[in-house]
Amino acid sequence: MLTRFAPSPTGYLHVGNIRTALVCWMYTRSQNGKFLLRFDDTDLQRSDVKYIDSIMQDLKWVGIDWDSNFKQSERFERYNEVFLQLINEGHIYACYETREELDIKRKLQLKQGLPPVYDRGALLLTEQEKIRYEQEGRRPYFRFKLDRNEAVKWNDEIKGEINIATNHTSDPVVKREDGIYTYMLPSAVDDVDFNVTHVVRGEDHVANTAVQIQMIQALKAKIPMFVHLPLLLRFGDSKISKRRGGLDIKSIKEDEIEQMALTSYLAKLGTSDPIEAYVDMQSLIDSFDIKKFSSAPAQFSLSEVYKLNSKVLQQMSFEVVKERLNQIGVNSPEFWYFIRNNIERFSEVAKWWQICKSNVEPVILDKELIKIALNALPQGDCSENTLSEWVKAIQQTVDVKAKDLFMQLRLALTGTKTGPELAKLLIFIGRENIIVRLREY
Ligand code: GLU
Repeated sequence: MLTRFAPSPTGYLHVGNIRTALVCWMYTRSQNGKFLLRFDDTDLQRSDVKYIDSIMQDLKWVGIDWDSNFKQSERFERYNEVFLQLINEGHIYACYETREELDIKRKLQLKQGLPPVYDRGALLLTEQEKIRYEQEGRRPYFRFKLDRNEAVKWNDEIKGEINIATNHTSDPVVKREDGIYTYMLPSAVDDVDFNVTHVVRGEDHVANTAVQIQMIQALKAKIPMFVHLPLLLRFGDSKISKRRGGLDIKSIKEDEIEQMALTSYLAKLGTSDPIEAYVDMQSLIDSFDIKKFSSAPAQFSLSEVYKLNSKVLQQMSFEVVKERLNQIGVNSPEFWYFIRNNIERFSEVAKWWQICKSNVEPVILDKELIKIALNALPQGDCSENTLSEWVKAIQQTVDVKAKDLFMQLRLALTGTKTGPELAKLLIFIGRENIIVRLREY
């Protein structure tokens, strides 16, 4: 098996194309195949190396690797060769209409109730007419001549039997008048030349597939398997619709979503498997089966990714996060194993570490009560039992409900109303700090 992911380096990857890349990659790795990364940059003006770099970085961040990569702009010579061959064989033809002329034709067809399909007028041009156009300064653009005799059929691994009639499709433009190849032909040529066995891509390419199958037939090459992933719907989730443009990796990182949370989510979305937190890429590969994918669109929900984020954090071992903990000055495995169950994002570790170890702004509701609490604090190092012993001791002196007392102690010791279990927090705050915090008032 050999597959490819073929982004156009004209922008950043968003969750939609990351999902495509991921599914293609998992499929390949589950079959011990090879995975190619191809940059569709034939339109050099719209492409930018900064996007090539960011796409590679983002793929790596997601956990995707590739066996080789190339840019289409390195292969113009080869495309020219195929282009000339297809012209000679009558599969590609030159056209001379201006944009305005094409527009008039289209409007006329629509007025007559006809589908706005290119009328192949250029095929009727004589050599003299073509020469005259060129002398007028017109430059040709080129179309691929579709075979309209029969529908294009293929068995899509996700969408099943597909049957596309090309009667109402205009012959696609393969080279513009400025000499730039459109996406269509170079992609078909590359898939053939590199022996791509499976083309895995978004459903928005179904119509292109019909055209490219005909191109591959014109090249007398083997047709690869086609796998079209249903769309990812992104509305209905206010968190996403509030954003401008797509949801890219940069904003995912800014939201502190863990790589395995996003990856687990995108890997299982739209499949018959439950969406769960996976610990590593290998477990995603092991559970991959293309048959599990539904042909219906999937709904992307950022809130679901957040939920998964807590679960991913809960599964992370100290070894996995050691470096990151070091950077925020945390070196206690015990603290990690305690706090990981109480956070939604990694940055909360630092917050709770600070609350335990540095000064906090205590909130004191009842000074008298806090004074009594200070005197009643059990001797010795704090343990899991300290809080219950402490509460009992306080209640022997003063009539206060346990619930109120917990709240007052929590506010006095952490400065906040909510947080991880207080009994455990006490262990990390430590007796000395408790005394300091309570004594100040
Ligand atoms: N460059 C195309 C895109 O980004 C590639 C489509 C394909 O996989 O062939 O949509």
